[in-house]
Amino acid sequence: MKSIISNIYINSPYIVKRLFANLEAIRRDKYRKSEDIDYSNFRTFKTVSQSYYNVSLVENFIQEAANNVPYYEFLKEYTTHSEKEFENIPLLTKEIVRGNLENLFSKNVVNINQQLWKGSSSGSTGMPLKYYRDKQSVTIERKQYNDFYTYCGCDINDKSVRISGVKVASFNKKRPPYWVYIDRYKQLQCSAYHISKETYKDYIRAFKKVKPTYATGFPSGWAALAEAMIEDGIVYKGLNAIITDSEGLSLEKKEKIQKAFACPVYQTYGLGEVGMCSVQCENGNYHILPSHYVEVVNENGNGVEDGNIGEIVVTDFNSSKAPFIRYATGDMGIMYRTPCGCKIETPYLSNIVGRIEDYILTKDNRKVTRVTQLLKPAIGINESQIIQVSREEIVINVIPNENFDKESMKLVVKNAKEFVGDMNVSWRVVDNLERMPSGKLKFLIRKF
Ligand SMILES: [Zn+2]
Repeated sequence: MKSIISNIYINSPYIVKRLFANLEAIRRDKYRKSEDIDYSNFRTFKTVSQSYYNVSLVENFIQEAANNVPYYEFLKEYTTHSEKEFENIPLLTKEIVRGNLENLFSKNVVNINQQLWKGSSSGSTGMPLKYYRDKQSVTIERKQYNDFYTYCGCDINDKSVRISGVKVASFNKKRPPYWVYIDRYKQLQCSAYHISKETYKDYIRAFKKVKPTYATGFPSGWAALAEAMIEDGIVYKGLNAIITDSEGLSLEKKEKIQKAFACPVYQTYGLGEVGMCSVQCENGNYHILPSHYVEVVNENGNGVEDGNIGEIVVTDFNSSKAPFIRYATGDMGIMYRTPCGCKIETPYLSNIVGRIEDYILTKDNRKVTRVTQLLKPAIGINESQIIQVSREEIVINVIPNENFDKESMKLVVKNAKEFVGDMNVSWRVVDNLERMPSGKLKFLIRKF
């Protein structure tokens, strides 16, 4: 049923679409605001100087989970007077979430639809992961986004432009609009799926007409626009900042976006399951929001020394109705607690390094990470993506530009074999990279 409605929406005339998008915005607003929250009770982005591990906050949170959430009954045996003790709590993995959907929320929840947000994320293998999230956490996340936009020099009451995976036009649509204007949010919501060398000027024209003062959305969408603009020597001015979310963003692409739009780019980091948990400052570091507790751990779930890489593990303190405690994100990072030099004083991740599942699995079960290095010899490609089809085969999708050198791909294949061993490595030119069901782009997709 949902897909029928969505099809009607996607194919309807612009004015009908705009009406529907606005009605949906009103419904969402109502949903977000239906619970009165006293924000002063919460540690938010602006309250930065508090001690990172707050014993009483953690203890109350853990106790509530132990008493009310069936899955977390075992927490009654745990004490959490210190960070070291907290580390004894077993990690919450995606597999556990998958198997305990109905045990992971509080017995005090009387109306699931009213108190919980039902979400779905792409999960580590591309299989959708269903979960419940405390609605309070969703509401506070929204507030923290607004605080962060303000920090970045944006006025949240001004017009904005967003590029995302929200489907606003059918995939084969060849003429604009590839967007819809949502009056209630004063937001031009644009499709990430329709940006190309042929269409990017339509987007710029729409921006010029609407005159947004700040921008948000998928980094891959903004980078695609930026790359097309740089190729034609076009710069768009008028945005105070672009704040990206949902996907990773390389330094190289960030710089391209900054060049094409003549404004700073700030990346945020979070997951649907636990919300936004860190934000990038002007020095490019990802500061942890005080609403979350973030650890970087080794394969045994114990914290690694600052400055060392490990898996990012997140606890969302606003999620007491559906708590996620020590959630293993599958992302890798390096933590620092020394001053960064900016105004935000919380610990930070210096960078978010790939995804833990981003590895090629070789015939002999080795995990080859940092797979971007396979592409190093390539000359003249805009974007690329590795598809591991089986243990025997990887295919490299490339989107070439006019400097493309086919010969260099021979070196890529040779180079790749040095990393992955005896495997069939081939490459092909594609128009679009493959996306996850959620619309996110991933550099490496493993199909088994
Ligand atoms: Zn900083």
